[in-house]
Amino acid sequence: MKKIAVLTSGGDAPGMNAAIRAVVRSGSQKGMDVYGVPLGYSGLIDGKFLPLGPRDVGGIIQKGGTFLGSARCEEFKTESGRKKALRALNSNGIEGLVVIGGNGSQTGSYLLSEMGFPVVGVASTIDNDLVGSDITIGVDTALNIALEAIDRLKVTGSSHQRAFLIEVMGRKCGYLALMAAIAGGAETVTLPEVDVEPEEIVEVLSNAYERGKSHAIVVVAEGAKYNATKLAEYFTEHHEEIGFALRVTILGHVQRGGSPSAQDRILASRLGAGAVDSLERGEYGVLVGWMNNVLTTTPLKDVVGKTKQLDMQLFELARVLD
Ligand code: ADP
Repeated sequence: MKKIAVLTSGGDAPGMNAAIRAVVRSGSQKGMDVYGVPLGYSGLIDGKFLPLGPRDVGGIIQKGGTFLGSARCEEFKTESGRKKALRALNSNGIEGLVVIGGNGSQTGSYLLSEMGFPVVGVASTIDNDLVGSDITIGVDTALNIALEAIDRLKVTGSSHQRAFLIEVMGRKCGYLALMAAIAGGAETVTLPEVDVEPEEIVEVLSNAYERGKSHAIVVVAEGAKYNATKLAEYFTEHHEEIGFALRVTILGHVQRGGSPSAQDRILASRLGAGAVDSLERGEYGVLVGWMNNVLTTTPLKDVVGKTKQLDMQLFELARVLD
């Protein structure tokens, strides 16, 4: 294989740049010409291929986001859109494609590979919901950003006897929220995977106040039955008395923008290089991930349409340690 392309798609994740860099540099070392596709599947449909050499990816390993840009592309969800992309790949003589992205993006890469094109996915999403990788690129950085926010909120919360509802990202997966709650020593956590009713939160917070705590933290997953805004509305509507004054902080996209952690840079470097190895040995239609401390490949057909299950023992742990 002599000519390959790489793109980043869907939600950006810190470490995507490190993954692109690894694809470009390991591909170049193997004598391949590597092309970057700007703006995910949109750029692919438009046939945009930028030649990238090892020097073009210098100075990006420490930067969050993706220098190629990412996009959500509705046209790629249609067969005609994917056919356009396939034509663009073939007419530019591209022989293999690396797709760095999350669940949606890997569904796209699976459908493209089913059309006969050699595609390899790289597991990258802050949500950590992808089957085929214990941990995905961006999770560690996003988690550390959430943790830093929790630590800061505890400091200000203690001065005013406040309770904070802090909402973290993760779509339908509670991984980030749960890990942030454990690492941040939160009083409680709400997750998409477990229905927690507002009454339970009221009780946890009132108990914390009565036990003499100077602050309290509730980590709320954005995909939980009650997000932070809805929970706060419930508290107001029901005139709930919890002792603490209640405040809401929604971390939102702040969680994505950080400089990638060492762990994310190393993971991204391994997975990016692993994707090129996979293309070179002719193993296509797979997701490159990291499982049980080893680089792994999982057929994309076993990845799409699934969501990784949360380890519920960790939920119990969060409850024990509140
Ligand atoms: P992520 O990869 O972060 O989960 P999205 O779910 O937004 O992000 O998906 C990113 C892009 O992947 C979409 O904009 C679309 O171009 C492509 N994609 C998502 N789902 C599908 C699908 N079912 N079929 C084809 N392409 C898809």
